[in-house]
Amino acid sequence: MGLTRSEGIVLKRHALGDTSRIVVAYTREHGLIKLVAKGARQSPSRFGFALEPLSRSRFVFYFKPDRDLHLLSQAETIDPAGSRLVELVRLAHAHAALELVDRLVWGEEPHPELYDLLVETLACVTAAPEAALPAVTLGFELQVASLLGYRPRLDACAGCGSPLSPRRVFSPAIGGLLCDRCASAEAGSILLSADALAGLSLLLSRPVREAGETVGPERVGEILRVVEAFLAHHFQRFQGLRSLEMLRALPAPPRQAAPCR
Ligand SMILES: [Zn+2]
Repeated sequence: MGLTRSEGIVLKRHALGDTSRIVVAYTREHGLIKLVAKGARQSPSRFGFALEPLSRSRFVFYFKPDRDLHLLSQAETIDPAGSRLVELVRLAHAHAALELVDRLVWGEEPHPELYDLLVETLACVTAAPEAALPAVTLGFELQVASLLGYRPRLDACAGCGSPLSPRRVFSPAIGGLLCDRCASAEAGSILLSADALAGLSLLLSRPVREAGETVGPERVGEILRVVEAFLAHHFQRFQGLRSLEMLRALPAPPRQAAPCR
């Protein structure tokens, strides 16, 4: 195939030799792709912000279906999102979204819904009150997993389909809530509070931009433990979000949460 075009978000980039770069982008039309940008280190102004992580850009490239790398011809910035993100906390959450897509998504399979979710989440991370950001990231983690076919089952036992245990037993390995019988046989399950279960359910069903209203900062930690254990079981490359680790050393954000817009 010859010259093709695609809109995408830059996830990361690496140096290639002294003059070029490899750019990893999540695109609407081609899924996760790697582009070789020749001369991008030598004359960075040629591409402006288009190859910067977090930027939403339009790429024109030589697409070869059987190759891992595609040669970039042109790149034009649609939205230089990273240039607007000055606060460390927002940057960390924005990079966490990129990291999650890079870890969970494999290959050049287009998934426009997932692409739109990433665009919406980055907009939300830019605009939401800081106190809402942990819930936004949590909602994004859950919804990305769901779109990739791993939606935690909360309506009946994830093991056998029977009615649920009233103890709210969640198994990260089986992938959802359990009945009493399955719960007694399953090590590594987690007991959820009623609030955490309600939050988990809302984060799965409501838009990411409403996540801050849906789950207050005091409930995020409990849900996060369950979600991260769930992701680690079902996605081999997921090992927590490194982009957020540095935030643990910072003071806690103010305890208020509101919608992004
Ligand atoms: Zn069961």
